[in-house]
Amino acid sequence: MSGTPQYKTLKGMQDILPPDTFLWQSVEQTARRIFSAFGFQEIRVPVLEATSVFSRSIGEQTDIVEKEMYTFTDKGGRSVSLRPEGTAAVVRSYVEHNLHSLPSPQKFYYFGPMFRYERPQSGRFRQFYQIGVEAFADPHPRLDAEVISMLGRFLTSIGLEGISFQINSIGCEQCRPAYKDALVGFFSDKKENLCPDCVRRFDRNPLRILDCKVSRCIEARSDAPRITDHLCQDCRTHFGKLQDLLTLLEVSFAVNPEMVRGLDYYTRTTFEVTSQGLGSQNAVAAGGRYNRLVKEFGGPDTPAIGFAVGMERMVGLLKQSASLTWPAPAVFIAALGEAAGNAALRIAGKLRDQDLWAEVGDAESSLKSQLRRADRLAARFVFILGDEELRSGTLKWKNLADASQGEVKMTEIQEFLAAI
Ligand code: ATP
Ligand code: MG
Repeated sequence: MSGTPQYKTLKGMQDILPPDTFLWQSVEQTARRIFSAFGFQEIRVPVLEATSVFSRSIGEQTDIVEKEMYTFTDKGGRSVSLRPEGTAAVVRSYVEHNLHSLPSPQKFYYFGPMFRYERPQSGRFRQFYQIGVEAFADPHPRLDAEVISMLGRFLTSIGLEGISFQINSIGCEQCRPAYKDALVGFFSDKKENLCPDCVRRFDRNPLRILDCKVSRCIEARSDAPRITDHLCQDCRTHFGKLQDLLTLLEVSFAVNPEMVRGLDYYTRTTFEVTSQGLGSQNAVAAGGRYNRLVKEFGGPDTPAIGFAVGMERMVGLLKQSASLTWPAPAVFIAALGEAAGNAALRIAGKLRDQDLWAEVGDAESSLKSQLRRADRLAARFVFILGDEELRSGTLKWKNLADASQGEVKMTEIQEFLAAI
């Protein structure tokens, strides 16, 4: 039966299906491997939190909190929200469980779905997945450099090409207020050139004007004062050291004084990773320092830094690259007749003991239809097993990729497969 299905995913949400799930798994495995080598451990936090966990930390006047949150009242009358990002929830957890008492720096990573009510478009979903990390309790730029170089290693290891880092420092509570004033002064006679969103930002969050993608705002800000010219001595030193360390670690980067990021909690270092394959608006990963957030959540004064990688954008880029191999059965055993069918099951069991993907044909159907199935599955080898093979204890094998064929003793199948 076909036709329009009665039920569909909600707008902006999608099913992740095989074989794509295979790519997702391999990205996650690489993340675990590389992050572990840097001492990061997995943390799992709920997808649903009290709304205030996000609104206070991300900022009431940010796009995420103003427009994008999935917020509702639960049956107990509490305002709860599906998490739009991971950092706020991890910080909530860090404070709730006194994780600052662990040896420092404390380093965590997470995987999972995030929810933002945005206009769906390419690379932009309402449920999307992030891999993120958060590292606490070290103010030194060494930690920033380590986190950034770890992200670079991860993206390179999964096979992304042409990635580049943009870094910036957006200062601290000492120097940012004066910079904000300088920006307000600059834009005060240019308001009519700004988009409606930026007119609002002018009053509430002028730094965000620097991040706007509307062309007339880009034009209006071409001579705007630069944060990098307004940093206090401590922030300047921190940012300078970070650049030295990134050079030492052979991470290539460019300073972009307009990259301010859309969340209120950042201090000092911010960074984004863009890739050749994505539109210029779309970063595959982004992050920064947030030295005040733990304290704002009621914890001890603890500096921290983190990043989040967008899975859909990353997997989208991977799919553009040529060198993908999809999983396929190592062996398809075509069997002819009941006795051969039973023997095939036993052979498959032995191969599966060795974690090999083995498929068994339907011994009651023709060899031709079994071979067709092996072909559709793209099995690497087909073994053919009938009464005669059972008697001789020798199987026929066929390599579907290069059409080579031969024979192998039933007792030597494992060795045969291990050899190729
Ligand atoms: P953008 O400027 O693209 O809206 P953002 O600043 O809102 O990104 P962050 O909150 O920093 O994004 O999230 C980090 C990463 O998560 C982004 O770089 C992107 O890869 C991914 N991401 C963010 N929003 C979405 C979305 N709606 N759909 C898919 N991926 C997303
Ligand atoms: Mg966004």
